[in-house]
Amino acid sequence: MNDATRGYIMIKNVDRVYVDAHGNEIEALKDVNLDIRPGQFISFIGPSGCGKTTLLRLIAGLDEPQNGQIYLDGELVKGTHYERGLVFQQANLFPWMTIEENIACGPKARGIYRYSTEEIREFIELVGLKGFEESYPHQVSGGMAQRASLARALINHPRVLLLDEPLGALDAFTRMNLQDELLRLWLERNTTMILVTHDVDEAVYLSDQIVVMTPRPGKIVQIVNVEIGRPRDRSDADFIQIRSKILKILQFAGEKKSPEYYL
Ligand code: ADP
Ligand code: MG
Repeated sequence: MNDATRGYIMIKNVDRVYVDAHGNEIEALKDVNLDIRPGQFISFIGPSGCGKTTLLRLIAGLDEPQNGQIYLDGELVKGTHYERGLVFQQANLFPWMTIEENIACGPKARGIYRYSTEEIREFIELVGLKGFEESYPHQVSGGMAQRASLARALINHPRVLLLDEPLGALDAFTRMNLQDELLRLWLERNTTMILVTHDVDEAVYLSDQIVVMTPRPGKIVQIVNVEIGRPRDRSDADFIQIRSKILKILQFAGEKKSPEYYL
């Protein structure tokens, strides 16, 4: 399979209902339909509780929809697989393993470790962690830990990388830095990227397409194409225009924020 057809996701009529502690049904996702092209960088944005994490978990195969199906390259998603990589807000590295051992987890689990030592070294370099191979997660910064978890996912050559607010816990500088890193990794690897973020700027800076969602029931309200060349400039008129468009959709959809937020 070549890169042009690798990482194509089809989400068909997906429903996911939860039952809360009081026995009430919560429609976390209601009739969600979406096609994600191979190699696309797509972001999901929307207020808390609109089903973003639920959708990523379904694509990851950590959970199943009650109705509908999700396909990756024509195959029904069932269960987890290393070809669907996951990165969460917290790096989730194994604390008792070094950075290098964490990154080597995938090749080890797949029984190809002994052929992968060169590649592990390359991935450590790719994410800028050369010199920190022997460090433990608690000895590196949050940004570095997140770089390591990106490398840990990417070393499996995933068809799709699922990112659930991966930069949400980082300070503004580290965050912007890692946004550029993400873009570089994406351009280099050509992996389909699915990012969940609360940050409109981040979504506009990174994505080909932004999917705006609303809660109760969790659904897609609008898909916005970001037709701006890269690298993008946050102060560009086109950038600002798309940013305010997304904010207006969110505002219209019920996201209540103080007026200063929109300045
Ligand atoms: P988001 O990531 O957009 O904030 P989630 O996908 O986490 O939203 O949640 C969507 C809705 O489903 C929320 O109302 C949430 O409370 C509910 N929900 C998510 N997971 C569960 C669960 N395991 N049990 C009950 N309700 C859940
Ligand atoms: Mg979430």
